[in-house]
Amino acid sequence: MHRKYLLLRFFKWIFVLPLLGIIIYNTLSCKSTQPIPDHPSRDERIPWNEEYFIRFSKALKFKTISYSSSDLSPEYSEVPFKDFNNFLEESFPLIYKTVDVVKIGDYSRIYKWSPKKPSSRKPIMFMAHIDVVPPGDLKHWKYPPFSGKITNDEIWGRGALDDKHCLMGILEAVEYAIKQKIEPTRDIYFTFGIDEEIGGDMGAGRVAKYMAKHGINLELLVDEGFAMINGTHAYLNRPVAVVGISEKGILNLDLEIKAPGGHASIPPPSTAIGRMSRAIVALEDNPMPMSISGLNKELLRKLAPELSWPYRVLLSNLKLSSYFLKYILSKSPFLNAFFRTTLATTLISGGNARNVLPTYASARINMRIAPQDTTEMVYQHVNSVVQSVDPDITVQCQKRVEPNSFKDPNNNVFLNFSKVIRSIYPDVPVIPGVFVATTDTNHFLELTDYVYRFTPITLTLDSMNTIHNFNERIPKQSYMNIINFYFQLIIQMG
Ligand SMILES: [Zn+2]
Repeated sequence: MHRKYLLLRFFKWIFVLPLLGIIIYNTLSCKSTQPIPDHPSRDERIPWNEEYFIRFSKALKFKTISYSSSDLSPEYSEVPFKDFNNFLEESFPLIYKTVDVVKIGDYSRIYKWSPKKPSSRKPIMFMAHIDVVPPGDLKHWKYPPFSGKITNDEIWGRGALDDKHCLMGILEAVEYAIKQKIEPTRDIYFTFGIDEEIGGDMGAGRVAKYMAKHGINLELLVDEGFAMINGTHAYLNRPVAVVGISEKGILNLDLEIKAPGGHASIPPPSTAIGRMSRAIVALEDNPMPMSISGLNKELLRKLAPELSWPYRVLLSNLKLSSYFLKYILSKSPFLNAFFRTTLATTLISGGNARNVLPTYASARINMRIAPQDTTEMVYQHVNSVVQSVDPDITVQCQKRVEPNSFKDPNNNVFLNFSKVIRSIYPDVPVIPGVFVATTDTNHFLELTDYVYRFTPITLTLDSMNTIHNFNERIPKQSYMNIINFYFQLIIQMG
C-alpha cells in the first residue's frame, strides 16, 4: 500500500511540476507593450477656463432629438438642428473663418482644415454626433434635461456623455489651435452626424457618399467609443482604454405568433402571450457561445501584463484558463458583451383587453453580433431555439449588419494613437478591442483602413449608466480632458 501511494505521488508531481513551470513561465514572460507617451509641455495643455463650460452648457440646451420612425413623436422638430448649426457658427468664429465648410443637405457639414502648403499625407478625420435620444420621463431628472445646468463640478443634460461632449471638445480644440497659430501638417476633416441614434443614413451616410465621390481616402477616422471605466476592471485598480478597432454587427428580429381568440374565462393552457414569453426565456437561456479568439484574444493578451497577479496568471495562460475565464467574464454584463453575441428583447406586444384572449403576440429582439459569429449563424440559432419551443412562432429578420473587419492593431497608427491617449492619461493601458455598440463609422468603412472608436474620458459604471438614461452629466474635469485629448491628437497626429 505504502509503495503504491508513493508511486502515485511521484507520478502526480511528474505532471504537476512541468505544468506549474509553464504557468509561471507564461506569466513572467508576458511584458507590457504600452508605449511611453511623448509628454506634452505645460504650454501644450489647454488651461481650465469656465468659458468652455458655459459654451458646452449652451450646446446641451438644443433639443436635437432623433426619433426612430416607429416612435416618431409629434414633438419632433428640425428647428433645433438649424439653430444648433447657427450656434456653432457664432461660437467658433476662427473655425468658420479658417476652415472650409461644405454643406451636405440641410444640417450636415464637412469641415476641412488644411495646411497652407498642400500635404501629400493622407488626411485624418474626427467625428461626433449632434443628435441625442429622447430624455424619457422628465420627473426622473434632477435638473431638466435641456437646461444645461452647471453645478460646482458638473454640467448636466441630454447629450453630455453622448455625444455633444466630443463634438464640442473637437471644436474647442481646433478653435484654440487656430488661435495659437498652430497649423495642421495634413488635411484634418471633422463632421457631425445628425441622426446617429437612428442609423445615420441622412447625416453620416450622405457625408460618406460625398467623400467617396470626391475620392477622399483617410488614414484614420476617430469617433465615439468606449470611455475608460473605473470600477469594471477593479482588479486592475485603474481604468483601461479599450479602443474599438472593430464594431459588433447587428441583427434585429421580429417574433410573431397568431392564436385563436375567445373569452378569457375559458383559456387554453397557454395564451399567445404565454407562448411568446416561453420562447423569449428559452432564447435567454440559450445564448450564443462565448469565444476567446481573434481580436478578443489579442485584447486579453495585451491586458495580461497590466493586471494584478491572480488575473495576470489567468490571462497569460489562456489555453489552460479559458474555461474558467469564460465563466468569470459571463458574470459581468459589460464583459460578457465583449466576448459573446448578445440578445435583448426590447419590445413586446399582444392583447387588447383584460377579458379577451390575445389573437396575436409579437416581440422585437435586438442582437449584437460578436466577431466570431455571422448574422446568418445567429439567425439559424434563434430560429432553431424558437422552433423547438413553439413551431407556430415565426422569426423575421428586419436588419442585419455583419461585424466589422479590421486591420492588425500592431502598426504605427495604433501606436501613435495610444501615445496621444497616454499623454493625457499616462497610467492608462491602451488596448485594441471590439466596440459593442454601433456608430456612424459604419458609413465610412470604404474610405479608411483605420477606424478608432474611443471616448477620451474616465467614467464610473454609475455615470456610464446615465447614457441614454436619466441624469446624464459630465464632470468639468472630464470635459477639459476631452478638449485636451483632441488638441493632442491635432498636435501629435495632425
Ligand atoms: Zn453616440
